[in-house]
Amino acid sequence: MEVMFTPWRYEYVKTVDQQEGCIFCDKPSDPESKDEENLILVRKERCFVILNLYPYSSAHLMVVPYEHTGTIEDLDAETMGEMMALTQQCMRAIREAYTPDGFNVGINISRVAGAGIDGHVHLHLVPRWDGDSNFMPVVAGVRVLPLALDSVWRTLKDLL
Ligand SMILES: [Zn+2]
Repeated sequence: MEVMFTPWRYEYVKTVDQQEGCIFCDKPSDPESKDEENLILVRKERCFVILNLYPYSSAHLMVVPYEHTGTIEDLDAETMGEMMALTQQCMRAIREAYTPDGFNVGINISRVAGAGIDGHVHLHLVPRWDGDSNFMPVVAGVRVLPLALDSVWRTLKDLL
């Protein structure tokens, strides 16, 4: 795992273990009984919400359309609307649970822009706290995080 700096945040670039399938197609096609294992928080009609397995900060999640496409121009207005509504809903839940000082909200289109999985568009929601970069050092590709993923999943699941 190598980490690349982009203007608004760090972006992971997957260099090994490249999946043959697409995780954003595969994960939601699993039964809902596997949602906790798959880190899926919400399933709506057109989009779902999944915690990032390699978060930049606690509660870093992604809002993802089911449609497999690499760019948002291909998405219809209903899908875009649901993505934005889910983003708002997730921000409210994260604010209630973790009282962040700010958020990064962003979509990387194509690999040159930092998309780790460039075939399937996904919106990153990254809560930020004052001074958070100080306690999340990147040492030899390992990021130290204050909260465990399973704990974040349960907390946000209850609020969403
Ligand atoms: Zn896909």
